[in-house]
Parts: sequence; C-alpha cells; structure tokens
Amino acid sequence: MIVLRHYMNNPLRNFNYLIGCEHSGEAIALDPLGADDVMALARDNGLTIRLILNTHEHHDHIDGNPVVQAATGAEVWAHQNAEGKIPNQARGLVAGDVIEVGTLRLKVLFTPGHTLAHLCLLSEDGGPQGQPVLFSGDTLFNAAAGNCFRGGDVDQMYDTFVSQFQPLPDETLLYPGHDYMKNNLNFALDREPNNDMARYWLEQVEAIEAADMPVMTLGQERTYNPFFRLHQPRIRERLKESFPSLGEGDRDVFKALRALRDKW
Ligand SMILES: [Zn+2]
Repeated sequence: MIVLRHYMNNPLRNFNYLIGCEHSGEAIALDPLGADDVMALARDNGLTIRLILNTHEHHDHIDGNPVVQAATGAEVWAHQNAEGKIPNQARGLVAGDVIEVGTLRLKVLFTPGHTLAHLCLLSEDGGPQGQPVLFSGDTLFNAAAGNCFRGGDVDQMYDTFVSQFQPLPDETLLYPGHDYMKNNLNFALDREPNNDMARYWLEQVEAIEAADMPVMTLGQERTYNPFFRLHQPRIRERLKESFPSLGEGDRDVFKALRALRDKW
C-alpha cells in the first residue's frame, strides 16, 4: 500500500491523502481539499485516482471533490449518514464494508462523534512492515480527540474511542485529517505536566515543519494523548480543579477533557 500525505498549509492545517495500490497504480483520494495538488501528486507518482472517499461532510474535507471527479471520473463515497450532505455521493458506506481498489483492502469503521456521519478507514496490514494503518479523519488526532461542536456529539465520540480505537494494536500507524500535533501536545502537557513522552515529542515537532510531521503509532499515542489516558491519576486530579464535582466514570473524564480542549 502506498500512502502519500499532502499538507495543505491552510489555516485549518488539513492533510489530504492518496492511498495507492503499488501493483495496479490505482489510488483513492481521501478528503481531497487541494484538488490540483492531489492530482499533481498522483501524476508525479504514476497513480490513477479511481475513487474519492470522504471521512465526513465538512467542507474542508469535500470541497475538492468536484474538480477531482471532473478530471478522473471517480465516484464519491462516504458514510450513508452523509447522503444529502455531500454533493454527488454515489454510495453510502456502513461499518464493515470493505473498499477494494487494486489490491487495496480498506475496512470501513463507523466512528461518529466529530459528526454523526464520520467514518475511518482501516487497512489491516498495509503498513511498511505489514502493520495496520488507520486513516482517522477528524476523530483521532495526534495527541487529542477531534471536536464535537460542528454537528457532533461528545458521548458518541467517547463510544467511538472505546469501541473502535481501543481494540486496535499498538503498532497501528495513524494518519489523521489535520496537523494539530504541536498545539495538542501543549494541551496534553497542561493536563499532565509530568508526562515525559509528551514533552519529548513536543520538542521533536517544534523543530520541524508541518509537512514533515512524524507518522505516529497508536502505541505512541497511548503514552501522551490524554484522551487515551483517562485513568491517569494526575489527569483526574487536574480536572477536578476545573470540575470539582467531576464523576469517576471514564466518560465523564473524556467529556471534561474535550470541554477544556474546546477552549484551549
Ligand atoms: Zn471536520
């Protein structure tokens, strides 16, 4: 599996992706905002775009669809809950669907929370060492969870983390929809000031451009991403400073973290 990540250098800091089959040269354009850039990237790498996939219906993930479609004839697929929200959507995907392009096999995960039509894509063995690869859109970012205030629901986001992300193995490679890593690591350190891994990775990413951000594994995320670290006593103690009547449940902790991240 070929993964080409394109950083948009826009205020929203979007990543666009081409996911290609190395045998057939066919590719999926995932969330193509920068249509011309994505098509040039395909051309330069000998890939033919066969399919446009959207993780969800927000404009910064779909606005390049028409130009890519006009140039390639590729259909637009997204979750079935996005039907009527994404122009020209040809297929409504559901959990468990497997998308096949060339030898690519991408499993659809239904991951509501950021919006109620959000999907993630999982390749079970597409990494360079045969490890799983997760394209997480705006649900899971490096060092944080996505927001839930533009058509989303934080309870469903929590359920998505528990049911869809927690079971994935540590070696899973993570490709999110935006680069917010620096800001998120600062938030992580604010929540857990003694987290050495958060501090280490903040120092690393402060020294590099967004286009060169490292590709992290879920195992690494579990060492510094507060949304995976709900049981950490330091996180819970700190939250009680802001939410004195905070409950003991993981869901309460997750929602309190997300509420603070909304204002960060
Ligand atoms: Zn979004």
